[in-house]
Amino acid sequence: MPYFPEIYPGEILYSVFARLSFHMAHVSAMDTWDHVYGRHVQRPVVDFPSNLDWFASRLHSGPSADELAMRHTLLPYYTAFATAQVREKAMKAMRGEEGKVGLVIGLRAKPLGPLQTVRFCPACYEEMIAGQGEAYFRREHQLPIVLVCPRHECDLRISEVKLGKTNFLHRANKDTCPPDAPSAVADRSVPRQRLLKLARRATDWLENPRSEDEVTAARSITARIVAKGVRAGSQVDWTRLNLIVDDVLAPLEPAFPGLLAGTGRTNGWMEHTMDPTRKVHSDPLCFLSLVMDEIEKGSGPFGDGPWACENPLAEHFGHMTITETDAPLKTNGRIITVKFRCSCGYVYTRSKYPDGRLGRSFRVRFGPLLRDHVAKCARDGLTITKAAASVGTNWDVLRRHMKKEGILDPWEKPS
Ligand SMILES: [Zn+2]
Ligand SMILES: [Zn+2]
Repeated sequence: MPYFPEIYPGEILYSVFARLSFHMAHVSAMDTWDHVYGRHVQRPVVDFPSNLDWFASRLHSGPSADELAMRHTLLPYYTAFATAQVREKAMKAMRGEEGKVGLVIGLRAKPLGPLQTVRFCPACYEEMIAGQGEAYFRREHQLPIVLVCPRHECDLRISEVKLGKTNFLHRANKDTCPPDAPSAVADRSVPRQRLLKLARRATDWLENPRSEDEVTAARSITARIVAKGVRAGSQVDWTRLNLIVDDVLAPLEPAFPGLLAGTGRTNGWMEHTMDPTRKVHSDPLCFLSLVMDEIEKGSGPFGDGPWACENPLAEHFGHMTITETDAPLKTNGRIITVKFRCSCGYVYTRSKYPDGRLGRSFRVRFGPLLRDHVAKCARDGLTITKAAASVGTNWDVLRRHMKKEGILDPWEKPS
């Protein structure tokens, strides 16, 4: 290829082609495709251009087809939680001429459809002009779920660039991105903090691969909801779940019309996302993750957990091994006491006083590890006082704990 412009970080491929078109003073997109591909190909699109193999082969020492897809299209967002198989299939579709990638990744999965209009952030725009003298369209701004700039926290604006059947490529400039361009969120009442959370999360999914734990968590939403107690018997309590959903998602409805319609118990986007046998789609998962935040944020007196095991006999002493507690108990109607149980059998309680002060912890049980410890102390010829000191207590308290664990007292003098 005789000339190709520098590709900017985070730039969507459409924008690169549009700048090329401008730099070369092409009359229509056909000239640009002739220039880029050197042959007639189908029209590339903003979110999922195909023919990347051919295109990359014409860029001398430029990025590979895979790098173009991963860094300059929306693909990594849509496949963030997909299986390796789906991911490979999607990449293949983008490398080749088929252009069926939208089908592979479920681009039309509810509650959002594909992008209609290219968006921009006015603050990013000014920075680009000041930085390199020309503006470009950033890819994270083209995710339908992103309505505010994750960096500048301002509303995105709707540019004059409409997608669909057009033979012209439009770069970001004062005509396509005028200062008075309308906001992507017309309704002022939509809480911007919540939109920002969505925007930041989606951008993270676009830019960074997910850990195995996150993928597993995405596939076990129903189990997580049940584990947090939003349940009737062993099933999800949909009445309570929908109350939480309404709290979290109803304020977003004006920005995403139809969002709540799919949150019912049967066959909506939410129920599909909770079904571990179905494909995980990023848009519904991103919305549902706000609901999960609310369910899992933990409102207990000692915070979200996990909490430390305080068993001096356990190798994991001091580690955060306790993930669940008994329901808090109110004493005198004022002091809140919580019982922490570790899987090693150690149990302790802590209290929170009406003034917010946290009390020290009280050991309830040592658990089965005490048996070996007592046997060892006796074998080593320690007195009961020394044995008790080795676990930070007195002989009479130790004796009480031995009784709780059913351990015969090796120090007891035969009478
Ligand atoms: Zn910005
Ligand atoms: Zn423990």
